[in-house]
Amino acid sequence: MNWTPDRPLQVAIVGSGPSGFYAAEALLKQKDVPVRVDMFDRLPTPFGLVRGGVAPDHQKIKNVVMVYEKVAAMPGFRFFGNVHLGRDVSAAELRKHYDHVVYAVGNESDRKLGIPGEDLQGSHSATEFVGWYNGHPDHRERAFDLSVERAAVVGIGNVAMDVTRILAEDPERLAKTDIADYALQALRKSRVREIWLLGRRGPAQAAYSPAEIEEIGELESAELVVRPDELVLDEVSKAETSDPTVKKNVDYVADVARRAEGSKAKKVRLRFCVSPVELIGEGGRVSAMKIEKNELVPDGKGGVKAKGTGRFETIPVGLVFRSVGYRGIPIPDVAFDEKIGHIPNTAGRVKPGEYVVGWAKRGPSGLIGTNRADSVATVQAMLEDARAQAARPDVARDARAVPDLLASKKLRYVTFQDWKRLDRLELERGAKAGKIREKFTTVAEMLSALESAATPA
Ligand code: NAP
Repeated sequence: MNWTPDRPLQVAIVGSGPSGFYAAEALLKQKDVPVRVDMFDRLPTPFGLVRGGVAPDHQKIKNVVMVYEKVAAMPGFRFFGNVHLGRDVSAAELRKHYDHVVYAVGNESDRKLGIPGEDLQGSHSATEFVGWYNGHPDHRERAFDLSVERAAVVGIGNVAMDVTRILAEDPERLAKTDIADYALQALRKSRVREIWLLGRRGPAQAAYSPAEIEEIGELESAELVVRPDELVLDEVSKAETSDPTVKKNVDYVADVARRAEGSKAKKVRLRFCVSPVELIGEGGRVSAMKIEKNELVPDGKGGVKAKGTGRFETIPVGLVFRSVGYRGIPIPDVAFDEKIGHIPNTAGRVKPGEYVVGWAKRGPSGLIGTNRADSVATVQAMLEDARAQAARPDVARDARAVPDLLASKKLRYVTFQDWKRLDRLELERGAKAGKIREKFTTVAEMLSALESAATPA
Protein backbone atom coordinates (compact mmCIF):
# COMPACT_ATOMS: atom_id res chain seq x y z
CA MET A 1 0.00 0.00 0.00
CA ASN A 2 1.45 3.32 -1.07
CA TRP A 3 -0.94 5.46 0.90
CA THR A 4 -0.32 6.35 4.54
CA PRO A 5 -1.85 8.96 6.86
CA ASP A 6 1.25 11.10 6.13
CA ARG A 7 0.96 10.53 2.42
CA PRO A 8 -2.77 10.07 1.76
CA LEU A 9 -4.42 9.62 -1.61
CA GLN A 10 -5.19 13.20 -2.71
CA VAL A 11 -8.58 13.57 -4.33
CA ALA A 12 -10.18 16.63 -5.92
CA ILE A 13 -13.94 16.54 -6.34
CA VAL A 14 -15.17 19.16 -8.78
CA GLY A 15 -18.75 20.10 -7.96
CA SER A 16 -20.50 20.20 -4.58
CA GLY A 17 -23.95 18.88 -5.41
CA PRO A 18 -25.34 15.57 -4.15
CA SER A 19 -23.11 13.34 -6.31
CA GLY A 20 -19.97 15.20 -5.18
CA PHE A 21 -20.91 15.00 -1.51
CA TYR A 22 -21.82 11.31 -1.73
CA ALA A 23 -18.42 10.63 -3.34
CA ALA A 24 -16.69 12.58 -0.53
CA GLU A 25 -18.68 10.66 2.07
CA ALA A 26 -17.78 7.28 0.57
CA LEU A 27 -14.10 8.25 0.42
CA LEU A 28 -13.88 9.69 3.92
CA LYS A 29 -15.88 6.96 5.66
CA GLN A 30 -13.78 4.04 4.38
CA LYS A 31 -10.75 3.04 6.45
CA ASP A 32 -8.79 1.09 3.86
CA VAL A 33 -7.01 3.84 1.94
CA PRO A 34 -6.00 7.06 3.77
CA VAL A 35 -7.46 9.97 1.78
CA ARG A 36 -7.64 13.74 1.73
CA VAL A 37 -10.56 15.30 -0.15
CA ASP A 38 -10.67 18.82 -1.59
CA MET A 39 -14.01 19.83 -3.05
CA PHE A 40 -14.26 22.67 -5.57
CA ASP A 41 -17.29 24.62 -6.74
CA ARG A 42 -17.50 27.47 -9.22
CA LEU A 43 -20.01 29.19 -6.92
CA PRO A 44 -19.18 30.43 -3.41
CA THR A 45 -22.13 28.34 -2.17
CA PRO A 46 -22.23 24.52 -2.00
CA PHE A 47 -24.97 21.91 -2.68
CA GLY A 48 -25.59 22.29 -6.43
CA LEU A 49 -29.17 21.51 -7.42
CA VAL A 50 -30.30 21.16 -3.79
CA ARG A 51 -29.82 24.93 -3.52
CA GLY A 52 -30.34 25.97 -7.15
CA GLY A 53 -32.77 23.35 -8.47
CA VAL A 54 -35.10 21.94 -5.81
CA ALA A 55 -38.26 24.05 -5.78
CA PRO A 56 -38.75 26.52 -2.90
CA ASP A 57 -42.01 24.83 -1.86
CA HIS A 58 -40.18 21.49 -1.47
CA GLN A 59 -38.20 22.46 1.63
CA LYS A 60 -38.20 18.97 3.13
CA ILE A 61 -36.09 17.68 0.26
CA LYS A 62 -33.48 20.32 1.12
CA ASN A 63 -32.97 18.79 4.58
CA VAL A 64 -30.56 16.41 2.87
CA VAL A 65 -27.89 19.14 3.24
CA MET A 66 -27.60 18.12 6.89
CA VAL A 67 -25.97 14.91 5.67
CA TYR A 68 -23.58 16.92 3.48
CA GLU A 69 -22.69 19.24 6.36
CA LYS A 70 -21.61 16.22 8.41
CA VAL A 71 -19.37 15.13 5.54
CA ALA A 72 -17.90 18.64 5.33
CA ALA A 73 -17.06 18.45 9.05
CA MET A 74 -15.06 15.22 8.65
CA PRO A 75 -11.28 15.39 9.07
CA GLY A 76 -9.54 15.43 5.69
CA PHE A 77 -12.25 17.51 3.94
CA ARG A 78 -11.72 21.02 2.55
CA PHE A 79 -14.02 23.21 0.41
CA PHE A 80 -12.78 25.68 -2.17
CA GLY A 81 -15.81 27.61 -3.42
CA ASN A 82 -15.72 30.35 -6.07
CA VAL A 83 -13.11 28.41 -8.05
CA HIS A 84 -14.14 27.61 -11.61
CA LEU A 85 -12.43 24.65 -13.30
CA GLY A 86 -11.50 25.64 -16.84
CA ARG A 87 -11.40 29.36 -15.98
CA ASP A 88 -9.63 29.84 -12.63
CA VAL A 89 -7.73 26.57 -12.57
CA SER A 90 -7.05 24.20 -15.45
CA ALA A 91 -7.59 20.46 -15.54
CA ALA A 92 -3.78 20.12 -15.95
CA GLU A 93 -3.23 22.09 -12.71
CA LEU A 94 -5.61 19.81 -10.85
CA ARG A 95 -3.77 16.76 -12.17
CA LYS A 96 -0.52 18.21 -10.75
CA HIS A 97 -2.07 18.51 -7.28
CA TYR A 98 -4.18 15.36 -7.00
CA ASP A 99 -3.81 11.63 -7.52
CA HIS A 100 -7.47 11.40 -8.52
CA VAL A 101 -9.88 14.00 -9.89
CA VAL A 102 -13.62 13.30 -9.72
CA TYR A 103 -15.94 15.31 -11.96
CA ALA A 104 -19.25 15.89 -10.19
CA VAL A 105 -20.24 18.78 -12.42
CA GLY A 106 -23.80 17.72 -13.23
CA ASN A 107 -25.58 18.79 -16.41
CA GLU A 108 -25.76 22.57 -16.50
CA SER A 109 -27.22 23.06 -19.96
CA ASP A 110 -30.42 21.82 -21.56
CA ARG A 111 -31.66 19.99 -24.62
CA LYS A 112 -33.28 21.94 -27.44
CA LEU A 113 -36.46 21.06 -29.32
CA GLY A 114 -34.97 21.80 -32.72
CA ILE A 115 -38.14 23.42 -34.14
CA PRO A 116 -38.66 26.70 -36.01
CA GLY A 117 -39.26 29.68 -33.74
CA GLU A 118 -37.50 28.14 -30.74
CA ASP A 119 -35.30 31.23 -30.34
CA LEU A 120 -38.14 33.76 -30.36
CA GLN A 121 -38.47 36.03 -27.34
CA GLY A 122 -40.68 34.40 -24.74
CA SER A 123 -39.24 30.95 -25.43
CA HIS A 124 -37.06 29.77 -22.54
CA SER A 125 -35.51 26.68 -21.06
CA ALA A 126 -36.86 25.37 -17.77
CA THR A 127 -33.26 25.59 -16.50
CA GLU A 128 -33.38 29.40 -16.78
CA PHE A 129 -36.71 29.71 -14.99
CA VAL A 130 -35.74 27.27 -12.21
CA GLY A 131 -32.42 29.07 -11.69
CA TRP A 132 -34.21 32.42 -11.68
CA TYR A 133 -36.77 31.63 -8.98
CA ASN A 134 -34.08 29.89 -6.95
CA GLY A 135 -31.76 32.92 -6.99
CA HIS A 136 -28.95 31.23 -8.96
CA PRO A 137 -26.32 33.87 -9.86
CA ASP A 138 -26.28 32.67 -13.52
CA HIS A 139 -29.99 33.31 -13.96
CA ARG A 140 -31.00 36.08 -11.55
CA GLU A 141 -30.94 38.72 -14.32
CA ARG A 142 -33.34 36.82 -16.61
CA ALA A 143 -36.71 38.34 -17.38
CA PHE A 144 -39.88 36.36 -18.07
CA ASP A 145 -42.90 38.12 -19.48
CA LEU A 146 -45.51 37.07 -16.94
CA SER A 147 -47.94 39.66 -18.29
CA VAL A 148 -49.20 37.08 -20.81
CA GLU A 149 -52.19 34.90 -19.94
CA ARG A 150 -51.12 31.63 -21.52
CA ALA A 151 -47.93 29.61 -21.18
CA ALA A 152 -46.80 26.19 -22.38
CA VAL A 153 -44.42 23.78 -20.69
CA VAL A 154 -43.00 21.16 -23.04
CA GLY A 155 -42.13 17.79 -21.49
CA ILE A 156 -43.78 16.03 -18.56
CA GLY A 157 -40.91 15.15 -16.23
CA ASN A 158 -40.55 16.38 -12.66
CA VAL A 159 -38.81 19.59 -13.73
CA ALA A 160 -41.86 20.41 -15.86
CA MET A 161 -44.00 19.77 -12.77
CA ASP A 162 -41.90 22.23 -10.74
CA VAL A 163 -42.13 24.93 -13.42
CA THR A 164 -45.88 24.42 -13.81
CA ARG A 165 -46.50 24.48 -10.05
CA ILE A 166 -44.52 27.69 -9.56
CA LEU A 167 -46.56 29.31 -12.36
CA ALA A 168 -49.88 27.94 -11.08
CA GLU A 169 -49.41 28.25 -7.31
CA ASP A 170 -50.75 31.14 -5.27
CA PRO A 171 -47.58 33.29 -4.77
CA GLU A 172 -48.56 33.91 -1.15
CA ARG A 173 -47.95 30.22 -0.48
CA LEU A 174 -44.38 30.72 -1.69
CA ALA A 175 -43.83 33.93 0.27
CA LYS A 176 -42.32 32.30 3.37
CA THR A 177 -39.99 29.96 1.49
CA ASP A 178 -36.47 30.69 0.24
CA ILE A 179 -37.74 31.80 -3.20
CA ALA A 180 -35.71 34.76 -4.52
CA ASP A 181 -37.42 37.98 -3.52
CA TYR A 182 -37.42 39.44 -7.06
CA ALA A 183 -39.10 36.24 -8.35
CA LEU A 184 -41.80 36.43 -5.68
CA GLN A 185 -42.50 40.06 -6.61
CA ALA A 186 -42.73 39.13 -10.31
CA LEU A 187 -44.99 36.13 -9.62
CA ARG A 188 -47.31 38.30 -7.54
CA LYS A 189 -47.87 40.42 -10.65
CA SER A 190 -48.17 37.43 -12.98
CA ARG A 191 -51.23 37.32 -15.25
CA VAL A 192 -50.61 33.75 -16.40
CA ARG A 193 -53.95 31.94 -16.10
CA GLU A 194 -53.62 28.96 -18.38
CA ILE A 195 -50.68 26.56 -18.56
CA TRP A 196 -50.47 23.91 -21.24
CA LEU A 197 -48.43 20.93 -20.11
CA LEU A 198 -47.43 18.93 -23.17
CA GLY A 199 -46.40 15.25 -23.19
CA ARG A 200 -45.31 13.73 -26.49
CA ARG A 201 -46.31 10.21 -25.40
CA GLY A 202 -49.19 8.87 -23.29
CA PRO A 203 -50.02 8.77 -19.58
CA ALA A 204 -48.26 5.40 -19.16
CA GLN A 205 -44.99 6.94 -20.37
CA ALA A 206 -45.16 10.12 -18.29
CA ALA A 207 -41.80 10.89 -16.66
CA TYR A 208 -43.29 12.63 -13.61
CA SER A 209 -43.56 10.90 -10.21
CA PRO A 210 -47.07 10.20 -8.88
CA ALA A 211 -46.58 12.62 -5.97
CA GLU A 212 -45.62 15.45 -8.35
CA ILE A 213 -48.65 15.20 -10.64
CA GLU A 214 -50.93 14.76 -7.62
CA GLU A 215 -49.52 17.95 -6.12
CA ILE A 216 -50.60 19.84 -9.24
CA GLY A 217 -53.98 18.11 -9.24
CA GLU A 218 -54.58 19.18 -5.65
CA LEU A 219 -53.54 22.86 -5.96
CA GLU A 220 -56.11 25.23 -4.48
CA SER A 221 -55.19 27.90 -6.99
CA ALA A 222 -55.46 25.87 -10.20
CA GLU A 223 -57.57 23.25 -11.90
CA LEU A 224 -55.83 20.30 -13.56
CA VAL A 225 -57.70 19.47 -16.75
CA VAL A 226 -57.20 16.23 -18.69
CA ARG A 227 -58.97 15.08 -21.85
CA PRO A 228 -60.48 11.57 -21.54
CA ASP A 229 -59.90 10.89 -25.26
CA GLU A 230 -56.13 11.20 -24.68
CA LEU A 231 -56.10 8.54 -21.98
CA VAL A 232 -56.97 5.55 -24.16
CA LEU A 233 -54.13 3.04 -23.79
CA ASP A 234 -52.63 0.93 -26.58
CA GLU A 235 -51.61 -2.69 -25.84
CA VAL A 236 -47.98 -1.85 -24.90
CA SER A 237 -49.09 0.94 -22.56
CA LYS A 238 -51.63 -1.38 -20.92
CA ALA A 239 -48.84 -3.89 -20.26
CA GLU A 240 -46.69 -1.10 -18.80
CA THR A 241 -49.27 -0.55 -16.05
CA SER A 242 -47.99 -3.73 -14.36
CA ASP A 243 -45.41 -1.30 -12.94
CA PRO A 244 -47.07 0.17 -9.80
CA THR A 245 -45.72 3.70 -10.44
CA VAL A 246 -47.06 3.69 -14.00
CA LYS A 247 -50.41 2.38 -12.74
CA LYS A 248 -50.62 5.15 -10.13
CA ASN A 249 -49.92 7.78 -12.79
CA VAL A 250 -52.45 6.32 -15.23
CA ASP A 251 -55.14 5.93 -12.55
CA TYR A 252 -54.62 9.43 -11.22
CA VAL A 253 -55.12 11.23 -14.54
CA ALA A 254 -58.12 8.99 -15.26
CA ASP A 255 -59.63 10.18 -11.95
CA VAL A 256 -58.91 13.79 -12.84
CA ALA A 257 -60.52 13.34 -16.27
CA ARG A 258 -63.73 12.20 -14.56
CA ARG A 259 -63.91 15.39 -12.47
CA ALA A 260 -66.15 18.16 -13.72
CA GLU A 261 -64.06 21.19 -14.79
CA GLY A 262 -64.25 23.50 -11.77
CA SER A 263 -63.94 27.22 -11.41
CA LYS A 264 -60.48 27.74 -9.94
CA ALA A 265 -58.77 30.87 -11.22
CA LYS A 266 -56.02 29.09 -13.15
CA LYS A 267 -56.07 26.05 -15.42
CA VAL A 268 -53.33 23.52 -16.07
CA ARG A 269 -54.22 21.74 -19.31
CA LEU A 270 -52.30 18.47 -19.40
CA ARG A 271 -52.16 17.04 -22.92
CA PHE A 272 -50.82 13.67 -24.03
CA CYS A 273 -49.50 12.51 -27.40
CA VAL A 274 -48.78 15.99 -28.76
CA SER A 275 -45.48 17.51 -29.95
CA PRO A 276 -44.67 21.15 -30.65
CA VAL A 277 -43.63 21.54 -34.29
CA GLU A 278 -43.30 25.33 -34.52
CA LEU A 279 -43.39 28.43 -32.35
CA ILE A 280 -45.21 31.20 -34.14
CA GLY A 281 -44.08 34.79 -33.55
CA GLU A 282 -45.49 38.27 -33.74
CA GLY A 283 -43.00 41.13 -33.66
CA GLY A 284 -40.22 38.73 -32.64
CA ARG A 285 -42.19 37.32 -29.67
CA VAL A 286 -43.92 33.98 -29.28
CA SER A 287 -47.66 34.33 -29.80
CA ALA A 288 -48.70 30.73 -30.50
CA MET A 289 -47.48 27.17 -30.74
CA LYS A 290 -48.33 24.72 -33.50
CA ILE A 291 -48.61 21.19 -32.13
CA GLU A 292 -49.00 17.87 -33.91
CA LYS A 293 -51.07 15.01 -32.59
CA ASN A 294 -48.95 11.83 -32.18
CA GLU A 295 -49.69 8.16 -32.29
CA LEU A 296 -47.64 5.64 -30.35
CA VAL A 297 -45.68 3.09 -32.37
CA PRO A 298 -43.24 0.34 -31.28
CA ASP A 299 -39.75 1.71 -30.59
CA GLY A 300 -38.04 -1.60 -31.38
CA LYS A 301 -36.94 -1.97 -27.73
CA GLY A 302 -40.22 -3.23 -26.30
CA GLY A 303 -41.61 0.25 -25.62
CA VAL A 304 -43.40 2.89 -27.66
CA LYS A 305 -42.31 6.12 -29.31
CA ALA A 306 -44.27 9.08 -30.61
CA LYS A 307 -44.96 9.42 -34.33
CA GLY A 308 -46.65 12.46 -35.87
CA THR A 309 -50.05 11.89 -37.46
CA GLY A 310 -50.12 14.97 -39.68
CA ARG A 311 -53.00 16.42 -37.63
CA PHE A 312 -52.19 19.84 -36.22
CA GLU A 313 -53.61 22.36 -33.75
CA THR A 314 -52.50 25.85 -32.81
CA ILE A 315 -52.60 27.00 -29.21
CA PRO A 316 -52.23 30.68 -28.33
CA VAL A 317 -49.34 31.01 -25.85
CA GLY A 318 -47.08 33.97 -25.09
CA LEU A 319 -44.55 32.09 -23.00
CA VAL A 320 -42.90 28.71 -23.61
CA PHE A 321 -40.67 26.66 -21.33
CA ARG A 322 -38.93 23.65 -22.79
CA SER A 323 -38.36 21.04 -20.12
CA VAL A 324 -37.08 18.15 -22.18
CA GLY A 325 -33.97 17.19 -20.23
CA TYR A 326 -30.54 18.53 -19.40
CA ARG A 327 -27.08 18.07 -20.90
CA GLY A 328 -23.56 18.77 -19.71
CA ILE A 329 -21.25 21.63 -20.63
CA PRO A 330 -17.77 20.54 -21.80
CA ILE A 331 -14.82 21.47 -19.56
CA PRO A 332 -11.62 22.45 -21.42
CA ASP A 333 -9.17 19.53 -21.58
CA VAL A 334 -11.68 17.04 -20.09
CA ALA A 335 -13.32 14.30 -22.19
CA PHE A 336 -16.89 15.06 -23.36
CA ASP A 337 -19.23 13.19 -25.68
CA GLU A 338 -21.36 15.69 -27.64
CA LYS A 339 -23.78 12.99 -28.71
CA ILE A 340 -24.73 11.83 -25.22
CA GLY A 341 -24.15 15.25 -23.62
CA HIS A 342 -21.92 14.13 -20.75
CA ILE A 343 -18.47 12.76 -19.84
CA PRO A 344 -17.84 9.35 -21.46
CA ASN A 345 -16.83 6.74 -18.89
CA THR A 346 -16.76 3.07 -18.05
CA ALA A 347 -18.43 2.55 -14.68
CA GLY A 348 -17.16 5.95 -13.50
CA ARG A 349 -13.61 5.68 -14.94
CA VAL A 350 -12.83 8.39 -17.50
CA LYS A 351 -9.08 7.78 -17.85
CA PRO A 352 -6.32 6.92 -15.38
CA GLY A 353 -6.67 9.26 -12.40
CA GLU A 354 -9.95 10.78 -13.65
CA TYR A 355 -13.42 9.73 -12.58
CA VAL A 356 -17.00 10.92 -12.86
CA VAL A 357 -20.17 10.71 -10.75
CA GLY A 358 -23.83 11.79 -10.92
CA TRP A 359 -25.48 13.33 -13.99
CA ALA A 360 -22.05 14.04 -15.53
CA LYS A 361 -21.55 10.24 -15.46
CA ARG A 362 -24.94 8.81 -16.44
CA GLY A 363 -27.00 11.72 -17.79
CA PRO A 364 -29.88 13.62 -16.17
CA SER A 365 -31.87 10.89 -14.48
CA GLY A 366 -32.88 9.84 -11.02
CA LEU A 367 -33.67 11.56 -7.74
CA ILE A 368 -31.15 13.01 -5.26
CA GLY A 369 -30.81 9.69 -3.43
CA THR A 370 -30.02 7.84 -6.69
CA ASN A 371 -26.65 9.55 -6.59
CA ARG A 372 -25.50 7.84 -3.41
CA ALA A 373 -25.15 4.32 -4.86
CA ASP A 374 -23.83 5.81 -8.09
CA SER A 375 -21.05 7.72 -6.29
CA VAL A 376 -20.24 4.74 -4.07
CA ALA A 377 -19.71 2.63 -7.23
CA THR A 378 -17.25 5.17 -8.67
CA VAL A 379 -15.42 5.41 -5.34
CA GLN A 380 -15.05 1.61 -5.27
CA ALA A 381 -13.38 1.80 -8.69
CA MET A 382 -11.13 4.61 -7.41
CA LEU A 383 -10.07 2.64 -4.35
CA GLU A 384 -9.42 -0.46 -6.43
CA ASP A 385 -7.17 1.61 -8.72
CA ALA A 386 -5.50 3.34 -5.76
CA ARG A 387 -4.50 0.03 -4.16
CA ALA A 388 -2.75 -0.99 -7.37
CA GLN A 389 -1.17 2.40 -7.97
CA ALA A 390 2.11 3.95 -6.84
CA ALA A 391 2.06 7.54 -5.56
CA ARG A 392 3.05 9.72 -8.52
CA PRO A 393 6.23 11.68 -7.71
CA ASP A 394 5.04 14.72 -9.70
CA VAL A 395 2.00 15.43 -7.45
CA ALA A 396 2.44 18.36 -5.02
CA ARG A 397 1.86 16.84 -1.57
CA ASP A 398 2.08 19.86 0.72
CA ALA A 399 -1.39 20.72 2.12
CA ARG A 400 -0.63 24.43 1.42
CA ALA A 401 0.08 23.81 -2.27
CA VAL A 402 -3.51 24.37 -3.43
CA PRO A 403 -4.33 27.39 -1.21
CA ASP A 404 -0.97 28.88 -2.36
CA LEU A 405 -1.79 28.22 -6.01
CA LEU A 406 -5.18 29.95 -5.63
CA ALA A 407 -3.62 32.84 -3.70
CA SER A 408 -0.95 33.26 -6.40
CA LYS A 409 -3.81 33.70 -8.88
CA LYS A 410 -5.42 36.28 -6.55
CA LEU A 411 -8.54 34.14 -6.27
CA ARG A 412 -10.83 34.80 -3.32
CA TYR A 413 -11.82 31.22 -2.58
CA VAL A 414 -14.59 30.49 -0.11
CA THR A 415 -14.04 27.89 2.62
CA PHE A 416 -16.78 25.83 4.24
CA GLN A 417 -16.49 28.04 7.32
CA ASP A 418 -17.07 31.07 5.06
CA TRP A 419 -20.13 29.33 3.65
CA LYS A 420 -21.47 28.70 7.17
CA ARG A 421 -21.18 32.46 7.77
CA LEU A 422 -23.07 33.19 4.54
CA ASP A 423 -25.64 30.59 5.57
CA ARG A 424 -26.21 32.34 8.91
CA LEU A 425 -26.49 35.73 7.20
CA GLU A 426 -29.05 34.37 4.72
CA LEU A 427 -31.09 32.87 7.56
CA GLU A 428 -30.98 36.19 9.45
CA ARG A 429 -32.09 38.11 6.35
CA GLY A 430 -34.88 35.55 5.94
CA ALA A 431 -36.03 35.93 9.56
CA LYS A 432 -36.27 39.71 9.06
CA ALA A 433 -38.39 39.23 5.94
CA GLY A 434 -40.59 36.51 7.50
CA LYS A 435 -39.05 33.85 5.24
CA ILE A 436 -37.02 30.69 5.76
CA ARG A 437 -34.05 32.26 4.01
CA GLU A 438 -33.23 35.23 1.83
CA LYS A 439 -30.47 34.12 -0.50
CA PHE A 440 -27.61 36.22 -1.77
CA THR A 441 -28.06 35.99 -5.52
CA THR A 442 -24.84 37.44 -6.93
CA VAL A 443 -21.26 36.35 -6.31
CA ALA A 444 -20.27 39.99 -5.62
CA GLU A 445 -22.95 40.24 -2.92
CA MET A 446 -21.74 37.01 -1.32
CA LEU A 447 -18.10 38.09 -1.26
CA SER A 448 -18.93 41.53 0.07
CA ALA A 449 -21.14 40.03 2.80
CA LEU A 450 -18.17 37.88 3.82
CA GLU A 451 -15.86 40.92 3.89
CA SER A 452 -18.31 42.92 6.06
CA ALA A 453 -18.90 39.97 8.38
CA ALA A 454 -15.11 39.65 8.79
CA THR A 455 -14.68 43.36 9.68
CA PRO A 456 -15.16 43.98 13.42
CA ALA A 457 -17.88 46.58 14.07
P1 NAP B 1 -37.05 13.77 -17.53
O1 NAP B 1 -37.61 13.11 -16.34
O2 NAP B 1 -36.12 12.99 -18.38
O3 NAP B 1 -38.30 14.27 -18.42
C1 NAP B 1 -38.10 14.83 -19.69
C2 NAP B 1 -39.45 14.95 -20.39
O4 NAP B 1 -39.22 15.60 -21.65
C3 NAP B 1 -40.11 13.61 -20.73
O5 NAP B 1 -41.49 13.74 -20.58
C4 NAP B 1 -39.72 13.41 -22.20
O6 NAP B 1 -40.62 12.61 -22.93
C5 NAP B 1 -39.81 14.84 -22.69
N1 NAP B 1 -39.12 15.09 -23.94
C6 NAP B 1 -37.82 14.81 -24.24
N2 NAP B 1 -37.55 15.23 -25.48
C7 NAP B 1 -38.69 15.78 -25.97
C8 NAP B 1 -39.02 16.39 -27.20
N3 NAP B 1 -38.13 16.53 -28.18
N4 NAP B 1 -40.29 16.84 -27.36
C9 NAP B 1 -41.20 16.71 -26.38
N5 NAP B 1 -40.94 16.15 -25.19
C10 NAP B 1 -39.68 15.69 -25.00
O7 NAP B 1 -36.25 15.10 -17.17
P2 NAP B 1 -36.47 16.28 -16.13
O8 NAP B 1 -37.87 16.58 -15.89
O9 NAP B 1 -35.56 17.35 -16.63
O10 NAP B 1 -35.87 15.71 -14.76
C11 NAP B 1 -34.50 15.28 -14.65
C12 NAP B 1 -34.36 14.36 -13.43
O11 NAP B 1 -34.50 15.14 -12.23
C13 NAP B 1 -35.43 13.29 -13.37
O12 NAP B 1 -34.86 12.10 -12.93
C14 NAP B 1 -36.41 13.83 -12.37
O13 NAP B 1 -37.19 12.84 -11.71
C15 NAP B 1 -35.50 14.55 -11.40
N6 NAP B 1 -36.26 15.60 -10.65
C16 NAP B 1 -36.95 15.24 -9.55
C17 NAP B 1 -37.71 16.17 -8.86
C18 NAP B 1 -38.50 15.76 -7.65
O14 NAP B 1 -38.39 14.66 -7.18
N7 NAP B 1 -39.35 16.62 -7.14
C19 NAP B 1 -37.78 17.48 -9.31
C20 NAP B 1 -37.06 17.83 -10.44
C21 NAP B 1 -36.30 16.87 -11.12
P3 NAP B 1 -40.24 11.10 -23.33
O15 NAP B 1 -40.49 10.30 -22.09
O16 NAP B 1 -41.16 10.80 -24.43
O17 NAP B 1 -38.79 11.08 -23.73
